[in-house]
Amino acid sequence: MSRFFSKKYSTLVPYTPGEQPKDTKYIKLNTNESPFAPSPTAIELVNNAAKNLQLYSDPECRKLIEVASKKFNVDRDEIIFTNGSDEVLNFAFMAFCDDEHPAIFPDITYGFYSVFAQINNIPYKTIPLKDDFTIDVNDYKNAKGTIFIANPNAPTGVALSIEEIEEIVKSNPENIVVIDEAYVDFGADSAVKLIKKYNNLLVTQTFSKSRSLAGGRLGFGIASKSLIRDLNTIKYSTNPYNVNSLTMAAGIGTLLDDDYCMNNCKNIIEIRKWVTNNLKELGFTMTDSSANFIFAKHDDFDGEQIYLNLKEKGVLIRHFDKTRFREYNRITIGSKEQMSMFLEKLKEVLEELK
Ligand code: PMP
Repeated sequence: MSRFFSKKYSTLVPYTPGEQPKDTKYIKLNTNESPFAPSPTAIELVNNAAKNLQLYSDPECRKLIEVASKKFNVDRDEIIFTNGSDEVLNFAFMAFCDDEHPAIFPDITYGFYSVFAQINNIPYKTIPLKDDFTIDVNDYKNAKGTIFIANPNAPTGVALSIEEIEEIVKSNPENIVVIDEAYVDFGADSAVKLIKKYNNLLVTQTFSKSRSLAGGRLGFGIASKSLIRDLNTIKYSTNPYNVNSLTMAAGIGTLLDDDYCMNNCKNIIEIRKWVTNNLKELGFTMTDSSANFIFAKHDDFDGEQIYLNLKEKGVLIRHFDKTRFREYNRITIGSKEQMSMFLEKLKEVLEELK
């Protein structure tokens, strides 16, 4: 820390993204990226958009919002696009949390929530997941703050049903409930259909996972018009051009090609089932994942050791140094080829650890 760094950030612990190694060629199963290329239409539209980069991007994201509103069956003023869904989540912390409305989220969830709370000087409270890593819906009823729930949750992959989400939203008419659906397309039910019924609900999604655009940085929020207006107040007070023209074009192309993406998701779900069965046979215990990753621990061997030995063999998975789940690893579901290689290397590692 330099002597000039503001004291208000002196205790800030930044989010640690998964490793993005440039030296070794790893089979990369550590950051929940898609193994599939972006949609061909997205690539074509990006190439065209590159010719006009001398101009600012459209701050209102009009074309993208037009295509998205049809796809998600909502009005145009019920959507906001952002630089990844991290940005809309940060906007939500800024817009809907303060001393009277502390942030509330599970103890095991997306690690960025506590960072967003800290950087915005917002008090937060965590609620422990049950021992089986599921959420007890009753813990979130009639809460005293702004609720953030990733559904499916990360890094557990466990999803709540739409009925359970509705119970939470319904019992909190005076609180905003944010449902982070970064992984929803891999097997959970989206709460977008509830936004017309509940004006305290904000649903966020991303193009990073199911739509193969992690590097493009595109996310969005869907909510009642008045909540979207609040989020836009934050956006226009920080970065009106938060979605650049190339990303905007990629987003439009991706939505025009949505069958391609949804088909890729079906593929991932099939591969997840296959890998899950294989891991069970190898002595792993797993949560019931509805995401593009598996959260697994071995009944006999140390989680960190498995992670390190796999890394040495060129396979990168995600290990978190967190007490409650240090025996677990999060394994992104890649292509069938990548996962075959992963299982092969994993078998070698387990043999060596015996
Ligand atoms: N929510 C959850 C639960 C995530 O795991 C991630 C990815 N790290 C995000 C949101 C943010 O993803 P992005 O900013 O790429 O949309």
